[in-house]
Amino acid sequence: MQDKELYQHLLGLKSPWFVSQVALDVDRQQIDVHVEHPPGTKFCCPECDAKLACYDHAPQRSWRHLDSCQFKTILHAAVPRVNCPQHGVKQADVSWAEKGSRFTILFERLAIDVLLATQTVTGAMQILRTNWDQTWNVIQRAVARGKLRKQAQPKPRIGIDEKAFAKGHNYITLLYDLDASTVEAIADGHDTESGIACLSQLSDEQIASVEAIAMDMCQAYVHAAQQTIPLAEAKIVHDRFHVMQLATKAVDQVRKGEHRQLQQADDHRLAKTKYVWLKSQENLTEKQQSQLDQAFTLQLETGKAWAYKEMLRDLWEHADASSAPTYFKDWYRRVIHTKLAPMKKVARTIKERLANVVSYCTHGITNAVAEGINSKIMAIKRRVGGYRNRENFKTAIFFHCGGLNLYP
Ligand SMILES: [Zn+2]
Repeated sequence: MQDKELYQHLLGLKSPWFVSQVALDVDRQQIDVHVEHPPGTKFCCPECDAKLACYDHAPQRSWRHLDSCQFKTILHAAVPRVNCPQHGVKQADVSWAEKGSRFTILFERLAIDVLLATQTVTGAMQILRTNWDQTWNVIQRAVARGKLRKQAQPKPRIGIDEKAFAKGHNYITLLYDLDASTVEAIADGHDTESGIACLSQLSDEQIASVEAIAMDMCQAYVHAAQQTIPLAEAKIVHDRFHVMQLATKAVDQVRKGEHRQLQQADDHRLAKTKYVWLKSQENLTEKQQSQLDQAFTLQLETGKAWAYKEMLRDLWEHADASSAPTYFKDWYRRVIHTKLAPMKKVARTIKERLANVVSYCTHGITNAVAEGINSKIMAIKRRVGGYRNRENFKTAIFFHCGGLNLYP
């Protein structure tokens, strides 16, 4: 009798439901709690809330509840059905679980907390003693619940970026809220259509509220923004880290070419220097700095390319959008007169998109926030050991990075 009252409290059961039986199964390490309602109790139609007599009961079913002293605790009940004149025979809602869930609300809340803390499905499965499908079901339901609740807030600063989903050329496009550091939308692929598919998930009001959008310099997302956001040209900001990445790649290409040439003359000065040229000056070790100094003294092409890359970095130090283009034009003039073909190519690319590179001075946004999310996604993916399919991967991103209210 006493444990019935205890479980009544532990389950938070409200009238008319009461605990009719508690059975302890030591062999199976399980506690079975049976709940019932008094005869003659009326229940509500889940569609219209009309209070109706109990028509019959659905077959007995069970819900996993929070463990009691490490014993799996299972709640059992036959859920009543009502015969609504308007909606027909319907199963009544129960207070301890959401419709369709195999878990009580309290267990589901715990499962969400464990999943957020472990960031891995397998880790959570061990703690919760659930299987893969059950655990995934918690994630899917949480994301669906969160998305349904999400209010359409204004999105003044957004970012759009691609992310490799698996090895090979399997990409998804992500749309970020740069202020909230959240993923707002995901679409398959990384072309113009993908960009449009992402941006179209924002409401008309949200699209109108966009003041700036960060992206790399690829045409796909430029076109997507132009076709979706009014006056996009004034709002696009090419991510400064992406631009610098292009310049860094150009330095590496110069190094490779030059290294090959030098080696033919049995000159190995550029051997094992790849990472020297990828860094910025303040991050170099003493040894790397001396390698760099040597390359300059010897007037290597790689050294020149590196210097131009570092000069380009100062472009973003120009506080206003009028002095930055002047700085760039000077840089461009110098680069274009060199023999550094890969760097010249980068210079031309930037020149073509200059307005949207220096618009950083006005809007001050980058996808660096998104980079934080990206590393989070990578970490989740690594620990889980890959997702079984693309849809699961997207769901996991929303679960961990969607800024959603996940709880039942
Ligand atoms: Zn009804």
